Amino acid sequence: MTMSERTVKARQDYDGASPFPGGAEHAPAGRAQVGLTGTIVVLPFIALGVAIFLAWGQGIALADLLLAAAFYVVTGLGVTVGFHRLLTHGSFTARPWLRVVLGVAGSMSFQGNLIDWVAVHRRHHAFTDRPGDPHSPYRYGTSVRGQLRGLAHAHLGWMFTSDRTSAERYAPDLLDDPAMVRVARAFPALCVVSLVLPFLAGWAISGSLYGGLTAFLWAGLVRVALLQHVTWSVNSLCHMVGSRPFKTRRHDRSTNLWPLALLSFGESWHNGHHSEPTCARHGLDRGQIDPSAGLIRLFERLGWATDVHWPDHDRIQRRRTGIPPQARARPEADRYPLRCRRWAA
Ligand SMILES: [Zn+2]
Ligand SMILES: [Zn+2]
Repeated sequence: MTMSERTVKARQDYDGASPFPGGAEHAPAGRAQVGLTGTIVVLPFIALGVAIFLAWGQGIALADLLLAAAFYVVTGLGVTVGFHRLLTHGSFTARPWLRVVLGVAGSMSFQGNLIDWVAVHRRHHAFTDRPGDPHSPYRYGTSVRGQLRGLAHAHLGWMFTSDRTSAERYAPDLLDDPAMVRVARAFPALCVVSLVLPFLAGWAISGSLYGGLTAFLWAGLVRVALLQHVTWSVNSLCHMVGSRPFKTRRHDRSTNLWPLALLSFGESWHNGHHSEPTCARHGLDRGQIDPSAGLIRLFERLGWATDVHWPDHDRIQRRRTGIPPQARARPEADRYPLRCRRWAA
């Protein structure tokens, strides 16, 4: 049996509870990757401590808070609307300039270049919560210890392994798009811009270098840390804690977690998303706040977004859990899993 035949067999044999075969043996990444990822992960956190220390007793300047909120919203929506709903799942078609704008905004969130981001996320959908998923909290099994270890892996640990996702395989469409390749190459520069802009804005508003420094801390690094952990919580918590009102594929344990809805711009309606991956709205039920879907709606009204995949009421109803099998959506109606299978083969 060849290596790939063994991998395919291990995936077919997976029972939904045991540790993933070979999951515990993953080699750590090379020193350079660990160093770089470590800096990107740890530095914003250290900055949080420094920022709190400096603000202690004298409060935070309003300008710092407003700048932090503005940068959080712009870069966050770049990830959710741009990286995720547009580039990964094609849930709408955007004007070419808007694709670039969203790609640039998302790149400023320190979450890797957009082509790698999309490749990892498509692989996550192709193998959700079974062997092959780059960041499943079920990797080490369903024992208490395995779950805790899995949670740490799904949140952060997966970035420190040598388990690379092939962009040629999972994101060939983006590699063929010169504009997206250019944005992906500009990722390190965009990270610098993402920190320099708040510094300059803070300096200009306060008229002092110290004002620039505190804006750099709050609207630069602390904002990066918060968005990173919210995004990673969708990978970790939203596959473990919360409700599962919709049917997903076998072994997929994605959940809806309402407390994160606003901070994650609607991405924590993750069970709805895994049930209907190409849908532009993740909050499929009434009252499920989804600011990313609101922005896509605005783009549509302005004529900047077309072919938007809005939820189909009957289809959603058929995907609810607890509905008899004969009333559920037929598999051939599932465009996305067919595409997943192409990547998963
Ligand atoms: Zn997921
Ligand atoms: Zn997705």
